[in-house]
Amino acid sequence: MASVRVDHGVTSGTFSLDGQTFEVDNNVWVVGDDRQCVVLDAPHSVPGILDVVAGRAVTAILLTHAHDDHVRVAPELAEATGAPLYLHPAEEPLWKLTHPDRPMPQPLADGQEIAGLHVLHTPGHSPGAVCFYAPDLNCVFTGDTLFHGGPGATGRSYSDYDTIVASIRERLFTLPSATVVHTGHGRDTLIAAERL
Ligand SMILES: [Zn+2]
Repeated sequence: MASVRVDHGVTSGTFSLDGQTFEVDNNVWVVGDDRQCVVLDAPHSVPGILDVVAGRAVTAILLTHAHDDHVRVAPELAEATGAPLYLHPAEEPLWKLTHPDRPMPQPLADGQEIAGLHVLHTPGHSPGAVCFYAPDLNCVFTGDTLFHGGPGATGRSYSDYDTIVASIRERLFTLPSATVVHTGHGRDTLIAAERL
């Protein structure tokens, strides 16, 4: 497994909720070796994501949460790659806002492990938000739960500030200090830097 690596891209588009729309850049994270990989989130552009996949077989598409900027092209990416989608069941209300005619993805559960990634249920930004911890790679993929500089947004529907703070304290700040944090938007950080 020494050849497993993290690849990164950025796609751009919009995020809409509660009647407002914002321009956003989303990170795309791909974890795998030279032959196969998993994709974390499906933002905005199938070609943009497939550029990062670079011809490898995709074995799963893991969704950190169901805000439309993270799942907009999830069904198309699943069709293009043949890979199953995974999402925490508590995201169903948000999934239905974006994809009312699509079935819910396969369920993610706290403690589950997929392709070396450990699922951490970290509600707050949304009810079924998850992070994916990769101990062998010394990193965690936090979606919109933890950014460089602090917690993700909790000002809109289905979010709760006290819940996200508890999730971050109990599930992320308990990871090793040197763990690299790969976020859903913007730059990386370290657990040690955000714990201050
Ligand atoms: Zn979000």
